[in-house]
Amino acid sequence: MIAVILSKYGMMAQNKIKDVLKSIVIDAGEKGHDEEFGYGVPKLPEDGVITILENSELYTIDEIVNMLGDYDKTELHIHHTWKPDMNDFNGNNHKELNESMRNYHINTRGFIDIAQHVTQFPDGSFMLGRDFELYPNSSSGYRDNGTPWNQPYVFMIENVGNFDSEEMTKVMRNNLVKLGAYFVGNGGTIYFHNQMDKSKSCPGDKLDYNEYMQEVINMVESNNQPHWAKVHRDNLKAKGITIHEERYNDYITRGEMFALNDRITDDYINRIEELQRQLDEKQ
Ligand SMILES: [Zn+2]
Repeated sequence: MIAVILSKYGMMAQNKIKDVLKSIVIDAGEKGHDEEFGYGVPKLPEDGVITILENSELYTIDEIVNMLGDYDKTELHIHHTWKPDMNDFNGNNHKELNESMRNYHINTRGFIDIAQHVTQFPDGSFMLGRDFELYPNSSSGYRDNGTPWNQPYVFMIENVGNFDSEEMTKVMRNNLVKLGAYFVGNGGTIYFHNQMDKSKSCPGDKLDYNEYMQEVINMVESNNQPHWAKVHRDNLKAKGITIHEERYNDYITRGEMFALNDRITDDYINRIEELQRQLDEKQ
């Protein structure tokens, strides 16, 4: 008997659905709990359409963290690419490197798309990988509770470099701490690939999980500290000037600084003139 599933595209044979599902799962076909599905049953996008993002924009860490706000990701998986390594990056070939990984993952590994949600380059910029809605192809194998590592709540990052032997750039490291702080600050968890799969050194022997986590925790704590400028905002309030927003790190332009200084000195001059008038009246 052939089971059929009614999808947006009409009837689909169960076998066809299984083919689609298998292609999304990491290492499907290797030994897994389910011979057919391999490691875990992935979630299909709601409309049944798997779109490969064709976006070669570069993003900052703040933009990536902002995007995460729209998704329910509670677990960060950290990897290094190993190959390409840092020598393969020439400062301009973000797109080529990302696309070559995508090509390898789709055509050699048989994944539905590039494995990771984002790729970080040695210059600290990010490129998008697969749709954030999809499971990543992060790690084969299972958690202690028997469920696969790849889950809808996992967010996977690949960092370009071979950190068994290469030194991660400072900007990459800082970004990785920022990203980690987003997860830990929201009660989430972080795994290195080598914790999920003991046969891997990924994200590299040079990265120590405990050291990294300490930096993440320090950042979460400092994020929870009041901003240094809060005292000034409070002082202004005491002087009768209430500023309703708290965007402490927004920039001020030179033009705005001229206007601000002009107004402050106006006020200062008005007060001096007022004092002078009062003195004159008393005399
Ligand atoms: Zn890895």
